[in-house]
Amino acid sequence: MPGILVIAEPNEGGIAPVSFELIAAARQLSSEGAGNVTALIAGSEAEAQQLIAHGADAAIAATNPALKTGLGEAYLPAVQAAIESSGADIVLMGQTSLGRDLGPALAFANKTAVAMDCVALAIAGGRLRATRSAYGGNARAEVTWKAPLQVATVKAKSFDALEADSARSGSVSTSDAGADPKVKVLGVSKAESTGVRLEDAPVVVSGGRGLGDPSAFGMLEELTGLLHGATGASRAACDLGWYPPSQQVGLTGKTVSPDLYIAVAISGASQHMAGMAGSKNIVAINKDADANMVKVSKFAVVDDYKKVVPALIEEIKKLG
Ligand SMILES: Cc1cc2nc3c(=O)[nH]c(=O)nc-3n(C[C@H](O)[C@H](O)[C@H](O)COP(=O)(O)OP(=O)(O)OC[C@H]3O[C@@H](n4cnc5c(N)ncnc54)[C@H](O)[C@@H]3O)c2cc1C
Repeated sequence: MPGILVIAEPNEGGIAPVSFELIAAARQLSSEGAGNVTALIAGSEAEAQQLIAHGADAAIAATNPALKTGLGEAYLPAVQAAIESSGADIVLMGQTSLGRDLGPALAFANKTAVAMDCVALAIAGGRLRATRSAYGGNARAEVTWKAPLQVATVKAKSFDALEADSARSGSVSTSDAGADPKVKVLGVSKAESTGVRLEDAPVVVSGGRGLGDPSAFGMLEELTGLLHGATGASRAACDLGWYPPSQQVGLTGKTVSPDLYIAVAISGASQHMAGMAGSKNIVAINKDADANMVKVSKFAVVDDYKKVVPALIEEIKKLG
């Protein structure tokens, strides 16, 4: 019986949100005939139970301390054991530092291939079909596997996590497989950020090169504050040093899927769209009616942002 193995990840004393997104992806594949969903987490049985609540049929709490390093080499024996015990022929992991490391190592160990940075998954002809960006974000490639084991890393925010249901039941087991890695992690430094994380914000206001001046981000931050969101930027704006690269949205930046994405003076290049096209409502503020961002938006204001953004701020303030 085939199946899907999801590699969940711990994160700051909890479970990384991408883990729940992967389980949602696996559930979709399961409904298309890919078998049961097993999830593995380097953590406790209580954490494994949370994976069941979010949609896994079975969960494995991997307890070997080596997994705390977050290195693929340490995870490999635990993942191999989980593939064997679950019978999984599909392995999904996040496009995270762990996934980038573990995915290729797992594929190599099993004489198969890994599809990295996938944004969509489906079952076609009984095999996994993965979609990923190609040619610098100008095209999308669909790939499938020749070898039995199909390994994919999935970009965060490509799938919506399912609501937790504490009444869901499933089997929880433990595994002490793991290996001491040959490299030593000397330290981990966290990117500085204040307020709501870009990836989690329900509202994102992003600025582009058309702002013409880095100080204009102050105006966008004021709007963001009123909307309880996060401020992002296009790569062009980040490359100019106008905004921190950690806030870049797009193919080579963060992927966001907020309820509301306000793109201020951003043209809507395919590489920017790759990071925000999943937004529920896109609003464009752009002086060019032919800009791609205006075309894809639900609402657009075609005018100079210097007039539009202050007026918007005033109106929102009046709402209290
Ligand atoms: C491999 C690769 C990866 C990339 N990755 C990313 C990525 O992750 N994220 C990303 O964003 N880009 C990425 N890019 C770059 C991308 O191709 C575009 O160059 C970039 O997104 C353009 O940024 P922009 O829209 O801010 O600037 P522009 O394309 O210069 O657009 C500026 C816009 O502002 C409007 N404007 C100008 N003045 C005003 C005004 N006063 N009021 C209102 N509107 C105004 C203009 O009409 C225009 O539409 C990547 C490119 C490559 C090749």
